[in-house]
Amino acid sequence: MSSQNYAYCASLKLYVTLFCLVFIGLGVIQIYPLLPLLRQILVGEIDLAGGQIDSIEAIRLICSMGFIGIATYYMILENLRLSKYQRRTYQWYRSSYPETQKNLTCYSCGDARIITRPAASAISRHTEHFCPQCGATLFFSLGE
Ligand SMILES: [Zn+2]
Repeated sequence: MSSQNYAYCASLKLYVTLFCLVFIGLGVIQIYPLLPLLRQILVGEIDLAGGQIDSIEAIRLICSMGFIGIATYYMILENLRLSKYQRRTYQWYRSSYPETQKNLTCYSCGDARIITRPAASAISRHTEHFCPQCGATLFFSLGE
């Protein structure tokens, strides 16, 4: 069960990374001809407020930077999430908190009412097991 979760997370991380790299690549293709312009703006040769910049070029520059930024942000966020789901399994929880061995309880406050909700990632089918008393996330499982 655990190795299935590991492989599932690893393949999702690969898909997310490749998917985002396509968009980052498109953004780089868009921004590449504008790099001299970007350099001029950064060193102050072009005054943005003075109307010296072509508005189409400015929009292209802003959009491509946004494109690269959002794709990079999502790629990092989703990979961090999936790494967490990959690592923090039921087995991991049981071996990390031996004091909760007898009954499955919260490591933080000791509450035994552990409830579940769908994990934050929209692309994985993980379930988050958390404590309703203190809000601590205990572990993640694959499926229901
Ligand atoms: Zn708790």
